[in-house]
Amino acid sequence: MYFSFRTKDGKEMPVLLNGIRRERDGVTVIDCVALQMRKRIEHEKDIMQTKQRLEALYQETNEANQRLELLHTQYEKKQQELLELNEKLETLASTDPLTGLKNRRFFQEQLQKCMATSQETGEAFSLCIIDIDRFKSINDTYGHPVGDLVLSQLAELLQEQSAADSVVARFGGEEFVILLPELEQEQALLAAEKYRFATESTLLGDLHITISIGAATYSPEETDQSLLQQADQALYLSKNNGRNRVTHYNA
Ligand code: GH3
Ligand code: MG
Ligand code: MG
Repeated sequence: MYFSFRTKDGKEMPVLLNGIRRERDGVTVIDCVALQMRKRIEHEKDIMQTKQRLEALYQETNEANQRLELLHTQYEKKQQELLELNEKLETLASTDPLTGLKNRRFFQEQLQKCMATSQETGEAFSLCIIDIDRFKSINDTYGHPVGDLVLSQLAELLQEQSAADSVVARFGGEEFVILLPELEQEQALLAAEKYRFATESTLLGDLHITISIGAATYSPEETDQSLLQQADQALYLSKNNGRNRVTHYNA
């Protein structure tokens, strides 16, 4: 209940009286607490202010969280862009710009991988080096741009004629290399013959061209360099024996 005390000097002192009825020693008593109203109002003000401060803090926390979420989304987007950029860079770094084939660096890496696999599984693999016959005369006769066109059309043809797991690469100039996973000597010779025949039978840049091929098959005592040397020696034989032919180092 609300009521007022009066002080000695006659001033009103509003109070709030809270009471509770209890039994004590068989007697009913009422315990009372009188709270000065001013104090109560101050309490309420305090509570109000604390509540407002809390609300402001919640608001700030919410905003900070939203900003954090936004930053997180932006971060993830940038991360994704970076991944895509890296992928593009990797493709660029492993691609020959003229023909769109894999480049020599990529080929060397794949060759290393093939050797490691072969050492584990014991399965053979082969590779062949392809060189365009008398390519210089094509440049000399028709010009460098026609030479370029022949190179890119031959690249396309070699890729078309290859199995999905073969790695076709431009080795440099008018030379190409093809890695033939799991192919033994005989199968490699057949594959190489297929490339040779397809080239001879297709107009490339409106011209008839031929290629010479040297093939080699991996065995555990070889290194990447020695295997390439074997294929190169076989290619040399193909050239020397009249061009437009396939030679295997072991044959
Ligand atoms: P061989 O049958 O003995 O291989 O004769 P070849 O004329 O093909 O060999 P050679 O090594 O004498 O000449 C290769 C030519 O390939 C010379 C070079 O100008 C040309 N060549 C190399 N790279 C490119 C290229 O990117 N574009 C063009 N158009 N020509 C190239
Ligand atoms: Mg050459
Ligand atoms: Mg050549």
